[in-house]
Amino acid sequence: SIEEANKKLKTLAQLIEDKPKVIKQSGEIRVGVDLGTANLVLTAVDDSNNPILGFSTPGTVVRDGLVVDYIGAINIIKEMKKKMESVLGREIEIAATAVPPGTGARDIDTFKNVVQSSGFEVSNVVDEPSAAATVLGIKDGIVVDIGGGTTGISILKNGESLYTADEPTGGTHLSLVIAGNYKISFAEAEKMKKDSTQESKIAILITPVIEKIATIINKHISNYDAKTIYLVGGTSNVKGIEKVLAQSTGLEVVKPFHPLLVTPLGIAMNC
Ligand code: ATP
Repeated sequence: SIEEANKKLKTLAQLIEDKPKVIKQSGEIRVGVDLGTANLVLTAVDDSNNPILGFSTPGTVVRDGLVVDYIGAINIIKEMKKKMESVLGREIEIAATAVPPGTGARDIDTFKNVVQSSGFEVSNVVDEPSAAATVLGIKDGIVVDIGGGTTGISILKNGESLYTADEPTGGTHLSLVIAGNYKISFAEAEKMKKDSTQESKIAILITPVIEKIATIINKHISNYDAKTIYLVGGTSNVKGIEKVLAQSTGLEVVKPFHPLLVTPLGIAMNC
């Protein structure tokens, strides 16, 4: 259920934020490596899928769904692996990872090679929306991943991606509109966008962009009779985005806590 997912996501967010404490964990541990566009996340869960450790490092090693900085990615993962192992007091040998939906076989191999070269044996390469679906406890539905440059739409049936699309509208466009209106830099606009106290100053500006995202979603889902949209990705953090999307699509919109951590957690659960 979404309540269960939210509880786990809250725990993982706290683990990433806190200085890791040494934990004694003798049971089975499953680990996931998420090579995100903005952050790389290493997550460990116990045999009941409860998060026990999480590390996140900013890094631009993946662009447009492809690994662009192979060495940089390996160094970051190795570093997080080392930290995780020192906290656990034991070696971690196996991990799962994920790729954007629609990634070709050769590019899947590149993701896999990065994780292997970081010292892991790769048990599984899942696609990102399927990883998210594991956390959300769903087999059917629409997973909408609103990132920086793009919005990914995946229609899941029986836990598999039946249809996926990626369209070039996302959080970057929200920031560009804010920057243009207030005549501030893109970086300042990004900051303003993420600051919940500034909400009243940006809502009117960003609503048309969110409505455009809704139009894109509608275009892709018109042939499917799904009732619920599940939001993941960084831009899903925007306050009230779920309401605008619900209104413009006429569907139920579920927004989990910490939408950015759904995929990383799901990868570990699929290890
Ligand atoms: P893409 O999908 O284009 O490859 P990505 O995978 O890097 O991008 P995410 O990391 O999911 O995407 O999201 C990045 C976007 O989320 C950025 O536009 C960023 O400004 C936005 N974002 C992150 N946190 C917040 C927040 N708290 N409030 C609003 N926007 C946020």
